[in-house]
Amino acid sequence: MEPTDIKSQSLEELKKTVEALGEKPFRAKQLYEWMHVKLAKSFEEMTNLSMTFRGKLKESCILTTLTALDVQTSKIDGTQKYLFALHDGNVVESVLMRYKHGNSVCISSQVGCKMGCRFCASTIGGWTRNLTPAEMLEQVYRIQETSGERVSNVVVMGTGEPLDNYDTLLRFIHMISDENGLHISQRNITVSTCGLVPKMEALADEKLQITLALSLHASSQEKREALMPIAKKYTITQVLNACRNYYEKTGRRITFEYALVGGENDSQEDARRLAQLLKGLNCHVNLIPVNPIKERSYVRSDKKVIGNFQNKLEKYQINVTIRREMGRDIDGACGQLRKSYIDKKEDS
Ligand code: SF4
Repeated sequence: MEPTDIKSQSLEELKKTVEALGEKPFRAKQLYEWMHVKLAKSFEEMTNLSMTFRGKLKESCILTTLTALDVQTSKIDGTQKYLFALHDGNVVESVLMRYKHGNSVCISSQVGCKMGCRFCASTIGGWTRNLTPAEMLEQVYRIQETSGERVSNVVVMGTGEPLDNYDTLLRFIHMISDENGLHISQRNITVSTCGLVPKMEALADEKLQITLALSLHASSQEKREALMPIAKKYTITQVLNACRNYYEKTGRRITFEYALVGGENDSQEDARRLAQLLKGLNCHVNLIPVNPIKERSYVRSDKKVIGNFQNKLEKYQINVTIRREMGRDIDGACGQLRKSYIDKKEDS
């Protein structure tokens, strides 16, 4: 029989597991606390559980724990990039960003990605597998434990398309915001998607309080298709309608991510079209100067061009900010630390 992945279980499910092992249900609460509040890495640490119980847990359950293979710290702003090893030899990347309002952790949801966005390093080797809820939680837990600082915000924007691992994502959101766990407010959780429309609609029906961030990156269907293959499946109109629906059902303002690629999507005409597309939608636009990756020929937009783009949007009363770049000196863009690690391993 497959060992039970207890760190992915809700408290209710854990009660059943504990009972099946012949223990009283209240033990589940203690076990849950060890895993999700005290962030224990082994059963040995769980000293208020009997030796017999711990023995049974060891025999029939796994306690998913990620190990940091590498931690890089930015000399510019203290941002830290973590490369975590999974039990099957795969690796994932997570980032800790320190802001005045608190610590934010950006986590991965899959090993690799199927979506093929042209400017992204995470998709170059394709998709390997989905992460489990425990593997998503662990990225936050290990960073909180290693840094010794409380994580107040979580962004699911690392490697992978979170809505392509939908059930796991939902479980992750419920568990990380659970008052019996780290209890991070749903309002401090952001999930980024490249625009999987049916899943966006399903998510709206969940009526969560999380922020949905849509990777838009273009102001027309044609340009979006050139940057993001998924745009061929779900048109820009469908994606924006799904955003409107999300706002109507949850009351949560939508964030639009717009990676500025020099000469591709950064003209004044692009800005005007973008403003037109977003008219009347309660939203915020995040402009991201794209990080060049060596496998692609994309270049970063000029500083002046970025400023002009922002000004144009503001003229149309669109809320817009240029995303502050964090940790540029440490394998900049998302997925690059993992990719450098895999490349090095293949070379050796
Ligand atoms: S940007 Fe996100 S969805 Fe697109 S390929 Fe990269 S990880 Fe996947």
